[in-house]
Amino acid sequence: MGEFELIRRFFQQEQAEHPPEGVFMGVGDDAALLEVPPYQQLAVSVDTLVSGVHFPADADAEDIAQRALRVNLSDLAAMGAQPLWFTLALTLPNVDESWLRDFSRGLFAVANQYGCALVGGDTTSGPLSITVQVMGVVEAGHALRRDGASVGDYILVTHHLGDGAAGLAAVEGRLKLDAEQDEYLRQRFYRPEPRVAEARKIRDLASAALDISDGLVADLGHICAASDLGAEVYVEDLPLSPVLAGLEDRDQALNWALSGGDDYELCFTVPEEHMAEVGLLIAQGELQATVIGHMVAGASVQCLHHGQTFELDQPGYNHFHD
Ligand code: ADP
Ligand code: MG
Repeated sequence: MGEFELIRRFFQQEQAEHPPEGVFMGVGDDAALLEVPPYQQLAVSVDTLVSGVHFPADADAEDIAQRALRVNLSDLAAMGAQPLWFTLALTLPNVDESWLRDFSRGLFAVANQYGCALVGGDTTSGPLSITVQVMGVVEAGHALRRDGASVGDYILVTHHLGDGAAGLAAVEGRLKLDAEQDEYLRQRFYRPEPRVAEARKIRDLASAALDISDGLVADLGHICAASDLGAEVYVEDLPLSPVLAGLEDRDQALNWALSGGDDYELCFTVPEEHMAEVGLLIAQGELQATVIGHMVAGASVQCLHHGQTFELDQPGYNHFHD
């Protein structure tokens, strides 16, 4: 099977239910032609997943595809943008039809779920690597950025923290659990949920936001640096899933929640005057989020456990200092 046949069979598939929005021309020409609606800004982000670095070399193709698109959509979510389109650069060691079928199935499942259309890409041969570039739109001036936090702002996170790192440990066999818990954590690692809807609800209430990919402490540090502030995190308030909260090694669970990475939850700051509205969204079940700290003067993220300094076991994941 040649390159063009491969593209046609696995990536030029009609995007089921909804005709893709704003795609004047998609896969097939030299470049895609896309229409950005008026008064909107284009949000663009790209991420590469390398076999053996970002996922185990023997991972399922469907899981890899799911994760590749989801982590990219999470970046758009973190800007408060609505995902619309993506491109895919695929480097494959060989043409394995059953692998490609599984990959394509996982990819389009996520694409359809989030209404994001594949509009182009590149296909080459070499060690397995997947690059996804996502594009979305956000009303001009309304994007969620990292540099807007002020002293006294509340710090919140969506859903639960630590599942991503615990999930990687489960996938790699470092964490032994019963079958149901193991499956829950696997899903949390391979299928993180981009918090697109949540981000759009807090878009005009939050002062700063990002998605947590490298661990809460490391990523909150980016909000601190961009906003020229420090942060206090209350370790006893970290939202843990039932599986993580049930681990015997509580210190490990807290360390995963603080610095494990791979959670793809949102971390955002809210000024006092908007907390009532955010509280209402939470109370009404429209937003699952927890207050975990405050922005303070300073330059670092300090973790406090019932008022005492909490020392982290390991810093956040950093590709070039590991
Ligand atoms: P070119 O030689 O002009 O770069 P390619 O042969 O790389 O063109 O690609 C032909 C068409 O197929 C283009 O529209 C490109 O966007 C699309 N394409 C290539 N690989 C993929 C892929 N993995 N997924 C989706 N579209 C792809
Ligand atoms: Mg090309």
